[in-house]
Amino acid sequence: MQVYRLSALSDNYIFLLHDREQNIAAVVDPAEASPVLRQLDDLGATLVAIFNTHHHADHVGGNSKLLQQFPGAVVYGGADDRGRIPGQTVFLQDGDHVSFSDRVADVLFVPGHTRAHIAYYFAPTIGNEAGDLFCGDTLFAGGCGRLFEGTPTQMVNSLGKLRALPDETRVWCAHEYTLKNLEFAFTVDRANVALAQRLADVKTARSRYEATIPSNLGVEKRTNPFLRWDDRGLRSTVKAENDIQTFARLRGMKDQF
Ligand code: ZN
Ligand code: FE
Repeated sequence: MQVYRLSALSDNYIFLLHDREQNIAAVVDPAEASPVLRQLDDLGATLVAIFNTHHHADHVGGNSKLLQQFPGAVVYGGADDRGRIPGQTVFLQDGDHVSFSDRVADVLFVPGHTRAHIAYYFAPTIGNEAGDLFCGDTLFAGGCGRLFEGTPTQMVNSLGKLRALPDETRVWCAHEYTLKNLEFAFTVDRANVALAQRLADVKTARSRYEATIPSNLGVEKRTNPFLRWDDRGLRSTVKAENDIQTFARLRGMKDQF
C-alpha cells in the first residue's frame, strides 16, 4: 500500500492509499474531489473506499462528487456521525477493523474534536515495519484539534489511545499546522531541547514549502505538549493541579495563541 499525500483547500491534506497490484485506491478525508480525481486518473486506479474521520466539511467535502464517479465506493465513518457524513454506508465503533489492500486497520474511537471522531491505525506488516495512523483532526504534528464537541477529559482519553501506539508509527494528520503548533509549544516548553531542534527544522522545511506530514509518533511523544499532559514541568508552567487541568489549560492557551 502506497500513501499519496494530496494538498487540498488552504491547508488540508487528503491521503490516497493505492494498491498497485489490484490498481484500487482508497482515500482518507477527501476535503474536495478534484485532487483525488486527478491522482486516480494519473494512476488509472479505481476508488473502492472513502475513510472519513469526522463530519467536518473540510474532511467530507469531496464525498458526493467522488461517489458520482465511483458509485461502488464504500464510505466508512464513525457510528455517531450517522446523518452527518455524505454517502456513509459503514458505521464504525471502537475496536472495529477495516481493511484495504493487504492491510488491516484498527478503528479507534477518539471523541473530543467532535463527538463522533474516529482514527484508523494500520498496524505494521512484513515489509511495512511502521504502522500508519490516520487521525484526522485529533492529533496534529505538534498540536491537537480544538474541542468543538468534547471535553478535555474525553480528548485526553482519546489522545491517550494514540499515545499508546508504537513510536515508529507514521502520523498522517489532516492539516499542515505544524509550524504554528510548534511555535506555541515552545512558549510553554522552552527547556525541551528536542522541541527546540524540531521547531528549527520545521521552520527550515516550511521556508522551502515542504510538507511536515507524515510525522513520527515518537517525536510527537517527546515534543508535542498535547501528548504531555502528565509532564511535571508542563504542569507547573501552566499552574495546574492534575493532568486534565494541565491539558485543558494548554488547549485554552493555544486557542488564544
Ligand atoms: Zn475538523
Ligand atoms: Fe479539519
